[in-house]
This record gives sequence, structure tokens and C-alpha cells, in this order.
Amino acid sequence: MFAVLTAAVLGAGGAAGTAHADVNPPVDEASVTAYIEETIEDSAYPYWDNWLKSQQLDQAEPLYKIIQRGETYENACDGAISSSDIPSAFYCDQDVQQDGVTYEGVLVFPIETMLAMQLGEVNGQYSEKAGKFTVATTVTHEMGHWIQDVLVYQGAQPPIRPGKHQELMADCFSGVWAGATAEGTLTVADFEAAVESREKAGDVEFTDPGHHGTPQERANAWKIGFFGSSNNSGSHPENCINEYWRS
Ligand SMILES: [Zn+2]
Repeated sequence: MFAVLTAAVLGAGGAAGTAHADVNPPVDEASVTAYIEETIEDSAYPYWDNWLKSQQLDQAEPLYKIIQRGETYENACDGAISSSDIPSAFYCDQDVQQDGVTYEGVLVFPIETMLAMQLGEVNGQYSEKAGKFTVATTVTHEMGHWIQDVLVYQGAQPPIRPGKHQELMADCFSGVWAGATAEGTLTVADFEAAVESREKAGDVEFTDPGHHGTPQERANAWKIGFFGSSNNSGSHPENCINEYWRS
């Protein structure tokens, strides 16, 4: 079972139900909350947990926190207080204790920003192809940072140099998850939403230490995760490590 921060007050109950079946259920903070939970718990975490086991690595579960409207969250990394509309999701790599268990970091998702993302605003820009899968791509990008953290912490890889390659690898890991788990369910629209979300997340601030890769590099990184590399096709995390790990 995946653990949620006990402080989280999840707003998934109640609001979404209607008397008759909707073809298009409402897109609101409750539905996005439920989708983030589902993506992590039913798909991405089980995928990565299996992969860690296949690498003889220990389970190193992260917590996740969806910051609901009106809530604030203080992260253990820099002590910053975040609200539900901060510009982006993030991963804080500090271990967290909860109920006597140590968790490997916390994934943080500001709900207003995540909802806006599904409705077409990615990194302050309009994404025509945005949809649910834009949210999933962001969620699994952050989980990519958690996997990086686990690999370093358990000595499977040397510390990674922060910056562009760290971000591209997280994009690549997101693509791996999509490719490995979405067979039969991933639509063309999902694929396009994911690729466009990486383009919108890119920047051309080459001299900025916060440069995260160009739009094309980021989309390409996701596709390498999804399709594989020229010498190893298919969705394999090793491709992302070979391509982007820079210590
Ligand atoms: Zn990132």
C-alpha cells in the first residue's frame, strides 16, 4: 500500500457524483486529485517498485502531498511554505518519518496548478493538446526525481549533477512509465498531451543554472523513455540512465 501524508485532506469525496452517468465527468480539483492518486498508487508506484526489486534495490517509498485549496505545506528541504497555486509540482528529497516509518522524500502537487494544467496551462503557457495525461506526465516526471534519489541513496549510481540532464532523465523516466504501462489504454491524444507538456516545460535560458533543457530536448527525452534508444528499443529505465546520468 502506498502511504499518503496524514496531514493531507483529500477532497475526492462526494463532489463528483451525479445521478446519471456522465460521458464527460466534470474536470475539477476533486477529479484531478483522484486522478493523481490513481496514477501514483495504481500504476506508477507499482511499476517503479517492481523495477527497483528487479535491480535488487530496496523498496524506498515516497510520500506524496496534494496541496488542496486553502491549505499550505512546508517542505523539509528548504522550509518554504507552498500553497495550492505555486507554479509547479516538485520533489523534496528529504527523508520523512510518519507513523514510525521512514519514507524516501515527498512528491508535492499544488492542486490549482495541476487542474490548470489539465485545462491547458503548462508552465505559464497555453498547451492546446493538454488533458489528463498532461497531469500524469508531470506526476511521473516528479517520480523520476524520486527514482534518481533512490538510485543515489542506495549506491546504485553516483550523485547526479543537478540541472538539465537531471530534468531530461526525469522526463525520460516519465516516458518509460507511459510506454511500459499504457499498452491498450494510451490514446494518441494522451501521447500528444505528454509530448506537448514536455515542450512547454522546456526553456531556452541556456545561461540560467535552472535551465531545464530546450522544448525539443525535453520532448525527445520523453520519447526516448517511451520508445527506447537506437540500440535498445522499448521502455527501459536503463536507456534514460545511459543517456542522461551525468555525475
Ligand atoms: Zn524536474
